[in-house]
Amino acid sequence: MSSVLSASPVIEILRCADCGQLDPGPRELCASCYSPRMEPVTVDGDGVLVSWTLVRRPPTRFQADGPYAVAVVDLDCGVRLTGRLASVPFEEADAPPLGARMRVCGGTAGMALFAPADAGR
Ligand SMILES: [Zn+2]
Repeated sequence: MSSVLSASPVIEILRCADCGQLDPGPRELCASCYSPRMEPVTVDGDGVLVSWTLVRRPPTRFQADGPYAVAVVDLDCGVRLTGRLASVPFEEADAPPLGARMRVCGGTAGMALFAPADAGR
């Protein structure tokens, strides 16, 4: 679960082998049917920005990372994923608007980085 994502916009989440429920993970039991058979699956890393917030004073565990922006993105596969924005919006105007198309651009399976889907085009 610590593989670094390549440039291709995919991300690893979990899928229940019994009922097919997708989950952002980490999770040991399916939230739908309580099956312990949660398997890693790769899904499209595109989605829509739901919310974000700037963390100026991170908790001790992430102190070296700060400041950073935590973002909530609804992936097109139907899973709501919490990650970070790739570029830190110190001003409101620097942030992508809510509802903007976002794309995974790096990070790890447990901490995805998101950027606007049209960035770099
Ligand atoms: Zn299930």
